[in-house]
Amino acid sequence: MTDFTMQKGDDGVAVITWDVPGKSMNVLSMDGAETLDRLIDEALADDSVKGIVITSGKDDFAGGMDLNVIAGMKEAGGAQGVFDGVMALHRILRKIERAGMDPKTLRGGKPIAAALPGTALGIGLELPLATHRIFAADNPKAKIGLPEIMVGIFPGSGGTTRLTRKLGAMMAAPFLLEGKLSDPKAAKAAGLIDEVVEDPLAAAKAWVLQAKDDLVKPWDVKGFKMPGGAPFHPAGFMTFVGASAMVHGKTLGVYPAAKALLSAVYEGALVDFDTALRIEARWFTNVLMNPSSGNMIRSLFINKTALEKGANRPDVPDEKVRRVGILGAGMMGAGIAYVSALADIEVVLIDARQEAADKGKAYSAGLLDKGISRRKVTEEKKTEVLGRILATTDYAALAGCDLIVEAVFEDPAVKAEVTRKAEAVIPQDAIFATNTSTLPIGELAKASARPEQFIGIHFFSPVDKMMLVEIIRGARTGQRAVAKALDFVRQIRKTPIVVNDARFFYANRCIIPYINEGIRLVAEGVNPTLIENAAKMMGMPLGPLQLVDETSIDLGVKIAKATKAAMGDDYPDGAVDDVLFWMADQGRLGKKADAGFYAYQDGKRQGIWDGLKAQYPRAADQPELTEVQHRLMFVQALEAVRALEDGVLTDIREGDVGAILGWGFAPWTGGPFGWLDMLGAARAVEIADHLAATYGPRFAVPALLREMADKGESFYGRFGSHGKKAA
Ligand code: NAD
Repeated sequence: MTDFTMQKGDDGVAVITWDVPGKSMNVLSMDGAETLDRLIDEALADDSVKGIVITSGKDDFAGGMDLNVIAGMKEAGGAQGVFDGVMALHRILRKIERAGMDPKTLRGGKPIAAALPGTALGIGLELPLATHRIFAADNPKAKIGLPEIMVGIFPGSGGTTRLTRKLGAMMAAPFLLEGKLSDPKAAKAAGLIDEVVEDPLAAAKAWVLQAKDDLVKPWDVKGFKMPGGAPFHPAGFMTFVGASAMVHGKTLGVYPAAKALLSAVYEGALVDFDTALRIEARWFTNVLMNPSSGNMIRSLFINKTALEKGANRPDVPDEKVRRVGILGAGMMGAGIAYVSALADIEVVLIDARQEAADKGKAYSAGLLDKGISRRKVTEEKKTEVLGRILATTDYAALAGCDLIVEAVFEDPAVKAEVTRKAEAVIPQDAIFATNTSTLPIGELAKASARPEQFIGIHFFSPVDKMMLVEIIRGARTGQRAVAKALDFVRQIRKTPIVVNDARFFYANRCIIPYINEGIRLVAEGVNPTLIENAAKMMGMPLGPLQLVDETSIDLGVKIAKATKAAMGDDYPDGAVDDVLFWMADQGRLGKKADAGFYAYQDGKRQGIWDGLKAQYPRAADQPELTEVQHRLMFVQALEAVRALEDGVLTDIREGDVGAILGWGFAPWTGGPFGWLDMLGAARAVEIADHLAATYGPRFAVPALLREMADKGESFYGRFGSHGKKAA
C-alpha cells in the first residue's frame, strides 16, 4: 500500500489519489513524495493520458507535511539534509507546474488540476498551487491555508514563492505571515484557489480534458511583473517597508520564522522563479536549523499531539463521557457547559438559583449567536447544542451523570456541601472533578465518599478559547479517574496535562511568580514601561502588569491573603503585597474597573497609569534590559524546574506544552525546559546564581539544574524524547 495511487481512465484522465494508509488525514512523507514523483513521470510519458487530476481518497485533501519527517531530516542530515530534502520537493512540484512543456516554447504540457474534497493545509495547498487549476468542494467546514508560521516555520515547499507571485506580497501577507485559514468560498475570493464546486473531481476531470493554452503560469512568461510591485517599484517599496515594520512590531525579533519568511519573499521577488525557490529553500533551512523552530515543532506539534492522543493515559478501558453534571453556572461553569454540549455531551447545569442556571445556559446561546452572525454556526446547530443543556437547581437531575465538574465558589465549605449533595444522587462509579484553581485536591476530596474517584480538572478562562486543561491527581485519585478526565478533555478537543497535587498545581504556580516579579520591579522604582517591554521582547504575549490588570487585582489580593495564611512566616512576597494592596485601596482593580497599572478609557487600555509614579518614584539608575528579562523569565523557568523536582510535573513535555498553552510562556522557546536547554544548563546556572545573589533565594538554583550543568546534560537529553521524568 502506498500513499499515492494512479488510475488511468478511458477518458484519457489519470487520477492520482492521495490516501495515506492507516491515517485519518493525509500528510506528506519523503516516501510519499517519491511515489508522487514516479506517478507524475509515468502519466506525463504515457501518450494515452491527456490530463492529470490529483485528489484525495479521504474526506480532506491533506493536513500538511509530516513534521516528524522534517525533524528527522534535520537530525539525519543537518542543514545540507534539510536543504536537499526541500530542493527535491521543489523539483517535483516544478515538474507538475511545467507538466512536460517544451522549456523554450512552453508548449505541449499536459493539464494538471487539483480536486480538494475538504481541508488543504501546508503542503496540502502548496502541491495544488503548483498545478494549473484548483477545484475545491463547497464544504464550509474545510480549511484552506498555510499555517506553518504557527509552529515556527514557514511555507517552504514553494508556497511562499508561488503565493507572493500569485497575489502580490501585500495580499499574500495574511496567509503567509499570520497563517490565516479560509473556507473554500473565502479562499476563492482571496485568489488562493480557482473554483468552488459540488463535485471537484468531476469538474477537474472536465477541465483537464478541455484545457489547452492556459497552463503557463504568469511567472514563467517573459516580462512577468509582481502584482503590487517588486521591492524597487514605488508601491512594492512601501509594501516591504510596511511589512518589515509590522513583522518586527508583532514578533519583536524573537520569532526567526517571520523574519526569514519576509527575507525569502523580498529576495525572491528580485530574481527569477527558480532562483527564488532556491532562496526560499535556503531561508527555510536557516529557520529549521534555529533551535527555536525545532523547539516549537516539538512542543506545539509533536508533543501537543502526543498528549492529546493520550500519551499519559492509564491503560484502562474507554471512559468517554456521555452525561456531565456541572455544579455552578458562573463564568467557568457556563464555559464548561458550552464546550461539553458542543462536543455532543449531555449537560446538566446546576446553580443555587434558577436565574443563575439560566444565565449560565444563556452564555452558550450568546456564543452560538456570535457564531451564527459570523456564518460559522447554523440555527439548527444552535437549537441542537442548547437542547443538550438542562439548566436547573434540582440535584436529582444529576442521576445518570457519569462525570461531575464542580465550579462553585472557591470556598471549601461550599465545595464540600455540593460534593455531598451530588454524590448522593450520581451513580456509584461516576467520577467527581473539581475546577478549583487554588485549593488542594486532597483536602477537597475529604468531602467525598469515593476519594479514588475524585480528581481536579482545571480549566483556564475563557474556557471556550483556552486550549489547556490541567488534570490534577490527588494522593488518593485512582487511574480510572485520570483516564476519564483525559477522555473528557479529548472529547472537548483540548490539550491535557496531568500533574500531581500541590499548591497552585503547575500553571498558576509558575505564572504567579512572573506577575509578582513585575510588581516587585515596580516597587523598586523600575520604569513600568521597561518592565512590560522587557517581557514582550522575550516573547511573552502580555507584560506582567497587563496580565495582572486582565486577571484583576482583587483576585491577586485574595490569592496573596490565602497564601500568606497558609504559609505563615515563610511567606516571601511582602514587597509584592505592599503594591498590590495599595492598588486595591486606590480602587484600581484592573481592566474590569477601567483602572489598574494601566489607565483605561472606555475599556480601552492606554499607557501606564500616571499615579503609579507618585507612589513608586522611578529610581535614578534603571537596570539593563537583559537583567529585567532574566528576572522575568528565570522566575518562571526555575519554578517549572522545581515543579519537576517536586514531582508535580512528571513529564517535561507536559511542562513545556502546558506553559505555552496555559499562560503563554514565550512560544518561540518551545516552553521553559526547551528554553533552558537552548541556553544550556551551565549558562542557566550562572545567570540564576547571579540573580539569587543579587535579588534573593527565589532565584536559588534547583539541585536538579545544578547537577545537569555539572554533567553537561540537557532536559530533553536527560529525560529522553518522551520527556518522562523517570526514564
Ligand atoms: P463564579 O462566581 O463566576 O461562579 C460560581 C457559581 O457557583 C455562581 O454562579 C454561584 O451562584 C454558584 N454557586 C455557588 N454556590 C453554589 C451552590 N451551593 N450550589 C450551586 N451553585 C452554587 O466563579 P468562577 O469564576 O466561575 O469560578 C468557579 C470555580 O472555578 C472556582 O473554584 C474558581 O477557583 C475556579 N476557577 C476559576 C477561574 C477563573 O479564571 N475565574 C479559572 C480556573 C478555575
